[in-house]
Amino acid sequence: MLPIEGLVIEDKDGRTCPRFVCQHCGMLVEDSGMALIAWEHKGKQGWCLHKGECWRAFDAKHGGNLLSSPDIDIPVMWLLMNMGIKTTRQLLSLWKEAKEYASISF
Ligand SMILES: [Zn+2]
Repeated sequence: MLPIEGLVIEDKDGRTCPRFVCQHCGMLVEDSGMALIAWEHKGKQGWCLHKGECWRAFDAKHGGNLLSSPDIDIPVMWLLMNMGIKTTRQLLSLWKEAKEYASISF
């Protein structure tokens, strides 16, 4: 198993929320379609990266042999599925609950 670097808890105005941070540029991921998860084949860790230049530069720095997911939202969905979310109904219920909580927290 490989830990993924880039999942952080952001502290914003005294309130906290999990976020992804690109491990190349250090910026928050604001658009799931513009980020991915990368890892080494038989390596020891994975990383969250922006697509495009961040991905290309980071991959080159690691020998150009990194594997990657499609958009980061796919592995996030796999994560939810691996934690027991099996139906669209469950997913929608959790999405509504999270959105209500976010409206209180942010
Ligand atoms: Zn980046």
